[in-house]
Amino acid sequence: MIKQLEIKLRPADLGKDEILRQRVIQQLRCKPEDLSEVHIRRRSIDARGRRPFFRLRVDAYLQENAAAEPAILDQYQMVDEAPAVIIVGAGPAGMFAALELIELGLKPIILERGKDVRARRRDLRAIQQFGEVNPHSNYCFGEGGAGTYSDGKLYTRSHKRGNIEKSLRLLVEHGAKTDILIDAHPHIGSNKLPKIVANIRETILHYGGEVLFDHHVTDFIVENGEMRGVIVNDKQEYRAQAVILATGHSARDIFHLLHRHEIHIEAKPFALGVRIEHPQPLIDKIQYGQKHREDNLPASSYRLACQVKERGVFSFCMCPGGLVVPAATAPGELVVNGMSLSRRDSPYANSGTVVAVEIEDMAPFAKHGVFTGLAFQQSVEQAFFNHGDGGQQAPAARLTDFVRGKVSQNLPDTSYIPGIYAAPIHELLPSGIYDRLRQGVQEFGRKMKGYYTGDATVIGTESRTSSPIRIPRSRETYMHEQTKGLFPCGEGAGYAGGILSAAMDGQNVARAVHRYYT
Ligand SMILES: Cc1cc2nc3c(=O)[nH]c(=O)nc-3n(C[C@H](O)[C@H](O)[C@H](O)COP(=O)(O)OP(=O)(O)OC[C@H]3O[C@@H](n4cnc5c(N)ncnc54)[C@H](O)[C@@H]3O)c2cc1C
Repeated sequence: MIKQLEIKLRPADLGKDEILRQRVIQQLRCKPEDLSEVHIRRRSIDARGRRPFFRLRVDAYLQENAAAEPAILDQYQMVDEAPAVIIVGAGPAGMFAALELIELGLKPIILERGKDVRARRRDLRAIQQFGEVNPHSNYCFGEGGAGTYSDGKLYTRSHKRGNIEKSLRLLVEHGAKTDILIDAHPHIGSNKLPKIVANIRETILHYGGEVLFDHHVTDFIVENGEMRGVIVNDKQEYRAQAVILATGHSARDIFHLLHRHEIHIEAKPFALGVRIEHPQPLIDKIQYGQKHREDNLPASSYRLACQVKERGVFSFCMCPGGLVVPAATAPGELVVNGMSLSRRDSPYANSGTVVAVEIEDMAPFAKHGVFTGLAFQQSVEQAFFNHGDGGQQAPAARLTDFVRGKVSQNLPDTSYIPGIYAAPIHELLPSGIYDRLRQGVQEFGRKMKGYYTGDATVIGTESRTSSPIRIPRSRETYMHEQTKGLFPCGEGAGYAGGILSAAMDGQNVARAVHRYYT
């Protein structure tokens, strides 16, 4: 018999199996010898009371044992002789599409402009230390895509979009901790992600798929209005009946290429703003009432949102115990983002703090037509870059000075390795964005006492929140409405926002391609 129950545990008791067992026995009033196994199904933190505690949902097995679940990878088959599918981009969307294709008996060929995870690391160091951005290998481009050197947060609100559990189990089968299957806010960390990404590549190769690095797709092969393949590095042809385009939100050349081929794309709303960094102990004090967190309590986080003048202002991609990183994909731009290691133990907490941007908010850029959002985004990134000395040092201000429209006299310490300098961020941001952010962060300070402080640093600009362009596709076939054989996929196409939703979109698209092939 299986009984489901909820158990509350103090942080100090987390991970102590005997204590958990005793609590289950007490709650069920069963004989100890009748309790065969206890499985935690869900784990969350409740910090609403005076002292935070863990809330566990468990399955207690009485006089029986849990059945072992078969591994997903056990169902894979060799596909080296199977019909090929081209996947452009080795981000979460592309890689999970490849895994799904293998499961369905098709051969994925991934073409990735960047390098493998190990070689990519050198290019990240060049950005951090020398401000040099390689347009093919950076925080967004390369094996694993933008997700590899990220925070690795794995929660999504897109529950209807796919099979979350399957995506998480695949990550576990490639080396992630089983904790991600039970945590309410699962997280991997950028020190662990590269190994998992490399393991996924090994699986794809093992079953007969291909993963090709330094393969920059520079053109499409379109014949009679149908996508027949792609050209790599201006010379090499790859042909297949279907092309999954999973190039992410920063592949600006791909958007231009689609437009040149008269393949319909659309401007779409997105969000833009800054990253705000607080001392982590301050956030812990606010959220847990503890400046020095007790053992087992993870660095605390927050999620804040409000409306200012009919636009949402919200925190985004919060990285407790994390680092602010330079995420530009081309020289001449300044873009920041956030990541964290698995232990989330840096002394800083940061989050993107952004304003929703609708098409009508970008009227001065309307002459760019479908590229309106992209041109607006790029102009802000260039303004932040041009204000500096040509490197990746980022303009910054204390939060209170930012609100007052002042340049800070000095700045708090930061996790951002290229460094920050005091600058008039209030002038570098478009006025509609600045005005809303200014009001929004004050509102956040009222909602979360202690948030609005001069000890927090505003760093700009956070502009790659989602794609400013959508590549429309049919809801039924997942194929581009006009271009047969083209399957837009993941965040760049406008159908995902985050690692997990991109992975699930990859799986959905792979199933659609399978239907198209059979
Ligand atoms: C620093 C950082 C931290 C983040 N933290 C998180 C987080 O904690 N949780 C979360 O859910 N999300 C996070 N994100 C967002 C997340 O990484 C993306 O939502 C996700 O990676 C999108 O997946 P994707 O596969 O659609 O595209 P991408 O991951 O962007 O992958 C696209 C791939 O296509 C390749 N490509 C582009 N153009 C071409 C071309 N012409 N030819 C060949 N290849 C090409 C790129 O090199 C890239 O590898 C973070 C992003 C960044 C940058």
